[in-house]
Amino acid sequence: MPEASKLADLHTHTHYSDGNDSPRGIMELAKAAGLSAVAITDHDILEGHPEAEAAAKELGLELIPGIEMSAAVAGLEVHVLGFFIDPANAAMRRHLAEQRERRLHRMHEMVAKLQEVGVAVTIDDVMAASGKGTMGRPHVAEALVRRGHVSTPREAFDRYIGNGKPGFIPGSTIAPKVVIELIRQAGGIPVLAHPIYLKDDQLIEQFCREGLVGLEVYHSSHNPDYVKRYEQLADRLRLLRTGGTDYHGSTKEGVPIGQAVVPYALVDALRAWKRNNPIR
Ligand code: AMP
Ligand code: ZN
Ligand code: FE
Ligand code: FE
Repeated sequence: MPEASKLADLHTHTHYSDGNDSPRGIMELAKAAGLSAVAITDHDILEGHPEAEAAAKELGLELIPGIEMSAAVAGLEVHVLGFFIDPANAAMRRHLAEQRERRLHRMHEMVAKLQEVGVAVTIDDVMAASGKGTMGRPHVAEALVRRGHVSTPREAFDRYIGNGKPGFIPGSTIAPKVVIELIRQAGGIPVLAHPIYLKDDQLIEQFCREGLVGLEVYHSSHNPDYVKRYEQLADRLRLLRTGGTDYHGSTKEGVPIGQAVVPYALVDALRAWKRNNPIR
């Protein structure tokens, strides 16, 4: 395939977090969609990469190892993608283990709140929905569907576990700056995920001063107007552009792998940045 027509999807989730495909399954879908490279960006966990790497080799695809880390600012949830992190980095490993512990604790609190408002659900229901790896609200949503309290995950968010709803407990309390620094210290490239959920360009400028390197300009939730807006913002702030579907499988309504993609040249730009910016 000529270099210019090669495509990459730089945002996908596996069953190691709140997706429901295996890493191999993601690679097979990417192959079928005609992609050349795909990033796995599970929430707060790197464990999906070895299986994805093996499948990628077999299928003749390229795995971009990634992660999506949670942070918060002024009560707003902020997601930072990290590409090419060293999985052996001790500070990163410690942070991720703590975050997964915090997520489990939060699930217990959310279950208790739901029970208080008369919604019968247990931590075991949530565990059964989450399988291996990181636990998150989509697993509570699935448990509520299985229990028959709601008919779709979306309804679960709208009625019970969306921000400010009766079963909601805020997620991360970590400042974005801390996450950005952790990613850079582990040799990775920090990129602000789906800026449309944040909507605050002033904050993005602040993250730049704190070491942000890229902006997820292309995303399944960004319409053409938002894409144009974030292309301009990325240029103005000299941020690298990335993009992807944020594919979760059937756990979240959304687009299939290959729908929101970027030219492979943007992957080259990420690699070039890493070469030119060795860890201090
Ligand atoms: P958590 O990290 O546990 O707070 O869960 C966040 C995940 O829940 C995100 O990755 C979204 O995919 C999903 N999510 C958040 N809000 C909604 C919503 N209103 N409807 C459906 N999914 C949502
Ligand atoms: Zn997710
Ligand atoms: Fe996200
Ligand atoms: Fe995501």
